[in-house]
Amino acid sequence: MLIVSEDTCKQVVGRGQAFDAVESVFSAMASGDAYNFPVIREAIGHADALYGFKSGFDRAGLVLGLKSGGYWPGNEKRGLTNHQSTVFLFDADTGQPAAMVGGNHLTALRTAAASSVSIKHLARKDARVLGMVGAGHQSAFQMRAAVEQHEFDKIIGWNYHPEMLSRLADTASDIGLPFEAVDLDRLGGEADVIITITSSFKPILDVKQIKPGTHLACMGTDTRGKQEVDAKLVAAATVFTDEVAQSISIGECQHAIADGLIAETAITAIGDVINKKHPGRTSADEITLFDGTGVGLQDLAVASVAARLAQEKGAAQEIAL
Ligand code: NAD
Repeated sequence: MLIVSEDTCKQVVGRGQAFDAVESVFSAMASGDAYNFPVIREAIGHADALYGFKSGFDRAGLVLGLKSGGYWPGNEKRGLTNHQSTVFLFDADTGQPAAMVGGNHLTALRTAAASSVSIKHLARKDARVLGMVGAGHQSAFQMRAAVEQHEFDKIIGWNYHPEMLSRLADTASDIGLPFEAVDLDRLGGEADVIITITSSFKPILDVKQIKPGTHLACMGTDTRGKQEVDAKLVAAATVFTDEVAQSISIGECQHAIADGLIAETAITAIGDVINKKHPGRTSADEITLFDGTGVGLQDLAVASVAARLAQEKGAAQEIAL
């Protein structure tokens, strides 16, 4: 069994490899070759922690396993990341453990890869302004992945906690693009592509603030009750997701579904667009929205790449069980 540390994951897996792994597993999910098992997430009654499992099987790539982890709000005081996760991969032929892979860095990479897959397939080709809503840990990964899939001229951003906006400014400067902090009306009025990546429980953006032709990647809502955009905005958009079952239960679409504003059948798996079974965007005026809920197969796909590359480079520890 291989052990691949967080540091090794940072060294061996790049954004390009994460993008390819996530795009290909979304395709496999839509064609029925890969499927996610039901998610378990529990408040364990200790350390205020939420702990759970995301798991699945990709029959095409023979990737089987689970991501185990959750949220420990007291970790920051101990100098640790609040979100903690580890991926376990198993040999699909024998059930034997194949690898244990640090999941924290890979979670950020695979989440950013998902929104950038949506930007590649759904944004207007002439989109030039990227709008960022959210300036937490994930936001820098999101911005870097987006600019690698689409040529932007400018980045604008808003955050609930303005003191955190320096993360967006610093990342944009590192990338070499101009950045401006704006209010939400300007963000919606000027951005051609908007990524939302917050832990908000109330809508931040309203349908009236969004201009025709915008592509939104809503990435923060991954739990029941969270919400980043108004349900009317979801209803006004052509909606895509990683997995429909998660979108309607824990994703951004949960609210539009609960309010009866959209039907489950109106939500398309992004894999159908990748597989050319759905045309994706059909007009320059259409608002497209990707509800990125985060599925276990994304974690397994990037962890499997990490394990393979770490082994090839002699960077994995190998132990006999
Ligand atoms: P973080 O704690 O580093 O940052 C939180 C962000 O949310 C900050 O921008 C903060 O200002 C903002 N925020 C906090 N309270 C808010 C409020 N009341 N209204 C509006 N904004 C508020 O978190 P992170 O690691 O950057 O993750 C951001 C979100 O993305 C979290 O909700 C996390 O669960 C989610 N996430 C989703 C996926 C996925 O696959 N979809 C993967 C990883 C993280």
